[in-house]
Amino acid sequence: MPVTAIVGAQWGDVGKGKITDLLAEAADLVIRFGGGSNAGHTVINGLGEFKLHLLPSGIFNAAAISLLGTGMVVDFAALQRELDDLRRAGVSGSGLRISNRAQVVMPYHIVLDRLLDEARGEERVGTTQRGIGPAYADKVARLGIQTGDILFPDVVRRKLDLLLPETNRTLLRLGHPAIDPADIMRQAGEWRECFGTLLVDQVELVDRYLTEQRPIVLEGQLGAMRDIDWGEYPYVTSSTTIAGGGAVGGGVPPAAIDRVVGVVKAYTTAVGTGPMPTELHGVEADDLRTKGAEFGATTGRPRRVGWFDGPAACYARRLNGFTDMAVTKLDVLSGLESIPICVAYDVAGRASSDMPVTPLLRDAEPVFESVPGWEADISDIRSWFDLPSEARFYLSRLEELVGAKAGIVSVGPHRAQTILR
Ligand code: GDP
Repeated sequence: MPVTAIVGAQWGDVGKGKITDLLAEAADLVIRFGGGSNAGHTVINGLGEFKLHLLPSGIFNAAAISLLGTGMVVDFAALQRELDDLRRAGVSGSGLRISNRAQVVMPYHIVLDRLLDEARGEERVGTTQRGIGPAYADKVARLGIQTGDILFPDVVRRKLDLLLPETNRTLLRLGHPAIDPADIMRQAGEWRECFGTLLVDQVELVDRYLTEQRPIVLEGQLGAMRDIDWGEYPYVTSSTTIAGGGAVGGGVPPAAIDRVVGVVKAYTTAVGTGPMPTELHGVEADDLRTKGAEFGATTGRPRRVGWFDGPAACYARRLNGFTDMAVTKLDVLSGLESIPICVAYDVAGRASSDMPVTPLLRDAEPVFESVPGWEADISDIRSWFDLPSEARFYLSRLEELVGAKAGIVSVGPHRAQTILR
């Protein structure tokens, strides 16, 4: 099967990095199709533990090409830091390529991200402050600098002359010194030197691999609830997180995508602001957060935690068309006497499993059912039938609510701690 898209359900941070690392072993081309260094994948494999932000999780497969796709916004300085970290651990990263049509996250985008979100006060989105939103805003405003532009200094200079006056006015208004174009041109020269030879024509590359029937993995980021179009707007990321984005930002024709793996955490977490109907507070939240080590890979922020949210995961399945589901972090739920599952929302007195628009989601009350928990530590289990019957029942309830089969069950952070069904 040539093309597999791996996407997050829920709000993101679902353990997608581990699943991509696993599935990327068999891939010849791994493409990240959206977002930027705001992603935070933790990958633990035979080479060590790594936090990936920009790099596709396929970077550990030395035989594969790992491509930063056209749908991405690329912060070259962050990319350099990430590569340096990998090289120190003995990973060459030699398979890295960058689409020549992706967007560049410029230094002023990073400054603007923080200042503009702060200026929203109570309505702030709680962004990761990596410049992602402003970079996408410039892309849509046709003021963006494409990765391929760094090969043409005169093009970069002309674009800066066009956009910097307005950008600098905004920066000054927000109390930040103006950006000097000469400074940016110097940095662009460094990017050209370090990354110029890695820029590729993505369309030619993808077409060649498709023609040769070589396996391709499309790697998404975050989850459906943070999608720019379908998420809980405006508390969303600035890019597409769903499988359709694999066609747009990944440069893969839609009909070529024949498998969509939805990565679903066995409970729910979120980073940033916005509604989260099953959110827990107090001791219960602290316990789940500690057991699941729920602290952001990019920001270190404690994640919001809650019970499994059926309507949110089902919404992700509807949008992505999961052909199968990878349920992660099931081990974290061991030791609970019973486990609440949200099966619907009560919205203005009416129970529904559909996803309401944000103003209604804000007041949605979760409708819970409780299923029996299991005592045993399951992190060493490698076969579906060795799981406690309660754990299998929990998973089958999730399957019913989401409408997809749990073909992969993850019971620990290591690559080996996986049950393939
Ligand atoms: P991603 O961005 O979707 O890849 O998610 P993160 O990497 O931010 O968060 C997932 C965290 O859970 C990482 O620290 C993983 O190493 C870890 N992890 C992944 N799968 C499992 C699992 O099945 N059990 C446990 N206990 N940890 C897991």
